This record gives sequence, C-alpha cells and structure tokens, in this order.
Amino acid sequence: MQRNNNRRLLAAALTVLAAVALGAMSATPAHAAPAMPALAPGASDYVKNDPQKTCDPSNKPGPVSFKNLLIQTYGSRSWNIGRSCSEAGTSEHKEGRALDFGFDADNATQRAQAYDLINWLFATDQHGNRHAVARHLGLMYVIWDRKIWGAYNGPYSERTYSCDGTPSGCHTNHIHFSFSWSGALQQTSWWTGRANRPAFEASSANGWQNLPTGIGGATRLAAMTVGTNKYVYTLVNGSVYEASSANGWQNLPTGIGGASAVAAMSVGTTKYVYTLVNGSVFEASSANGWQNLPTGIGGGRASALAVMSVNGTKYIYSVIDGSVFEASSANGWQNLPTGIGGGRASALAVMSVNGTKYIYSVIDGGVFEASSANGWQNLPTGIGGGRASALAVMSVNGTKYIYSVIDGGVFEASSANGWQNLPTGISLASTVAAMSVGTTKYVYTVVDGGVYEASSANGWQNQPTGIGGAFALTAMSVNGTKFIYDI
Ligand SMILES: [Zn+2]
Repeated sequence: MQRNNNRRLLAAALTVLAAVALGAMSATPAHAAPAMPALAPGASDYVKNDPQKTCDPSNKPGPVSFKNLLIQTYGSRSWNIGRSCSEAGTSEHKEGRALDFGFDADNATQRAQAYDLINWLFATDQHGNRHAVARHLGLMYVIWDRKIWGAYNGPYSERTYSCDGTPSGCHTNHIHFSFSWSGALQQTSWWTGRANRPAFEASSANGWQNLPTGIGGATRLAAMTVGTNKYVYTLVNGSVYEASSANGWQNLPTGIGGASAVAAMSVGTTKYVYTLVNGSVFEASSANGWQNLPTGIGGGRASALAVMSVNGTKYIYSVIDGSVFEASSANGWQNLPTGIGGGRASALAVMSVNGTKYIYSVIDGGVFEASSANGWQNLPTGIGGGRASALAVMSVNGTKYIYSVIDGGVFEASSANGWQNLPTGISLASTVAAMSVGTTKYVYTVVDGGVYEASSANGWQNQPTGIGGAFALTAMSVNGTKFIYDI
C-alpha cells in the first residue's frame, strides 16, 4: 500500500465523531472462523495510523502467530511477511509487520473462507464491542479483492481499494493484513488477554498529574459540568456509565445499553445523555432516571452525533448517509435535512454564538460552515484543501475559531481573518480538542499517544502534559482550572 492511499484513508477515517458503518458486511457468524483465545471482556482501542517509517524486514511475532492460526484454520497456503528494503513504496512488510496470506478470489471455496475470516474480524462481540477481533489483534488495515478495511483512530470502514488491475496489486490472489507495532509485537489484548486502559483525569491545578478515575474498559467519553461538579460519561462494552467528581468518580451504570456513541449536555441542572443505538438516536436524562427514549432520529442509519442547547432548547445534529440533519426539542424532534453534506459529510462540530447556530462539517477533506442565520447555506471556508481530517470549534467574544488537522499538522482559522488557515506549528497530531479560559485559547492534541497542550498565550508552543498512552480526549475548564479526560 502506498503512502498516498494511507493519507487518503487517514483523511476519511480520522473524524471527530464519525462512526462509519460497515454496511456491505454480513452479520452472519463465521462458521469457519479461527479459534478465540481467552480474552478479558473489555474492548481494545482502534489502531492509530502508523505507516512504515524505518526498515527492518524480520518477521515480527504478531503476524507470524496470526499466520499460524490461519494455516491451522484454513490449511497450508503461500504466505509472506518481510519484504526487502530495496523495493519501492511504503509498506509495513518492510518492517515485518504485514502479512500476505493466499486466498484466491476466483476460487469459490477460498473466496468464502476469506469472507468468513473478514466477517469474523469485524463482527460485534457478545459484549457489544464493534469490530472486536480486529481491535484485539491490533490490525491497522486489511486489503482483499479490491476492498480495504482501515482503522485510523476510529471504527473500521470499508472502502474501494484502487489498484493496477493485476491479481497481486488488486489483492485478488492474497489477503493483506497490516498490524500496528503493538499488534506486531504481541502487546495487544489478543495476546495479553487484558483490555484497554482506564480513563484518567489530569488538571492544570495539579501540574497535569494524570490520575486514574477508576473508570475502566471505556472506548468513548463525553464530559460536562453542572455547577462546579464534573461529569464523565463513558461507553463500557456498549453501556453508558456516569462518574462524577461529586461521588469520587464512582462509575455507575445508567442502564443505557447497546450504544456506539455518546454525547452529553446539561440544561439547568438536568443532565442529558444522547446515544446512537443501532443507528438511531436516543435521549436519556437524569430527570427521568435515565430512561433511554427513542427520538425517532436516524432510522438505523445515523453515524455521527453532536448536541447543544440554545436558550433551553435542545438540538441534535446527526449525519445520516453522509448528510446532516437537525432536530430540536422545540419541534418534537422532527428531523429536518439541513441540505449540508450531499452524502459526503464525515465529521461534524456545532456551536452557537449569541443565539445563532453554526454547523461545521468535513466534506471531501474540506471544511464547510453553515448557519441558521443564512438558512443553512453550506459555504466552503477554504480550509482543508481536501486533506482535513479532524475538527474542533469554539468562539471567544463572538469570534469563531476552527481548528483542523491537516496531514497531522494543526491549523487555526478565524472568522476575524476571513478564515485564513494558519499553521500553529503543532505537527504529528491525530486528534484535537479546544477550549478557552478568558480570552486565552488552548489546544489539546494527541501526538504519538502523548497528550500535549499549546496556547495562544505562549505562541502555540506544544508542551507535553506528561500524559501518555492516550487515544481519545476531551477537555473543559471549571472556574479557570483546566481538566483533560483521556482514555
Ligand atoms: Zn501485502
């Protein structure tokens, strides 16, 4: 696989809130799937994008062990792991962490076996964890028969793999697996049996000491404040838990289950949790004992979710088949198309400034803005150049700021400078969160698993917080103290 393919996939897959469904994949259990090891019930993280950078073609133990499992299951086949450093192109084969295994797409038996294997890799497990086996193994992407399934900090998505027409280039005579380094070195839960790390909290008030909250096995998180109490909502095996600083971070089940995404907000002192359950949007609130009620939004096809309140009215934004919809509590959750997206929107951020609502979306790698004040006309900001992948927005005194990740670099644009997109100097970032305290803007990024903070007050110097091993993060401030939550 070439670098430009990687970059295109990164742009498509590294989205703030998107959870792209593997629509074409059968839900039928694989009858010929490999044997499972003993695993802890938790989920493992989705793999970070980490293409070949060095050359060390010696066969790494993860792909060797997986190759042996495939031979045990399907019989002896041709296979290859390491590839010479002198060959052209970027490939994890040159680091001994990619496996090619012979399945012939023109042979009916082998074709059925390959799809049994793929369905097994990406199936939801009995705990509700999507793509469970692929995550346990630490698979970065899989290529087979002109299709590619990739995860780059988010759920796997199936895409067409453009190729040169040859059996080897189009992967019709073999299936390709690229492992993360931790998968290649057998450090993922498939081999260790341990699920992913717990949630931590660090604050500027304690010198960014990253302290465990006691919340474990979470895959997604949302955070908010009510008064001075902080609340963290996490998904653990598809169920929503709530922990708060007011109860010493005891992580209590809300009873909400089967969810794949979570968003939270408060209106007055009532807390609201929004979840995606099988592609439909549900609302639960602390005022109704967390009864999870269908809003009617989504129709089984919603993939991303953002929420906000404006003067006590709640708004839900969802991406359905690549287009953005808005529903509000004031219209009984009628879900109205905004006209944004044209079937190609992938990431979504929302905010309000003095009662006007703004929607930001990433369409084909470019950032667009629409507002309720212009009838949701979706205007290109000029940001992204076809390569933007992640997005955070905020306003400071009425000026709107957009932070985007382009080829790993963080850029800032503002409505005050006509959306000129200026590099902050922060590079190699995979995710971005932003907030302001007074008029100082703060950007938090994950760089190689470490959490960094940069601020407008220090010229965007990107300083390590000391927090490591992170995958997802959210940030907020309470009375001037900044808090970071990471998993
Ligand atoms: Zn290969």
